[in-house]
Amino acid sequence: MRKPRVIRCAACAGRIKPQHPHIGVEDLETGVEFSYHARASCQKRCVEETVTRLEAGKVFAAHHYHASTCADEAPGFGCAGGCFDTPMAVAN
Ligand SMILES: [Zn+2]
Ligand SMILES: [Zn+2]
Repeated sequence: MRKPRVIRCAACAGRIKPQHPHIGVEDLETGVEFSYHARASCQKRCVEETVTRLEAGKVFAAHHYHASTCADEAPGFGCAGGCFDTPMAVAN
């Protein structure tokens, strides 16, 4: 049996199930990825923390991981699966 990767939310420290929608913010220098729940409160923390890290001169790429049940062919905010609560204000 393959052991599933455990992802924890950097905002609330809760576990994120890989089949649930979540956001990854990847530090392009180190390859370290910070994960956040798709819910609005965790996304808010995500934006705040990413802004702080950007101000520290770091470069990030944001990834949107959709639910395994999401059938939208062009996933993003407002996808057919309704994965994300609110648009995230981080532009890349
Ligand atoms: Zn969370
Ligand atoms: Zn989706």
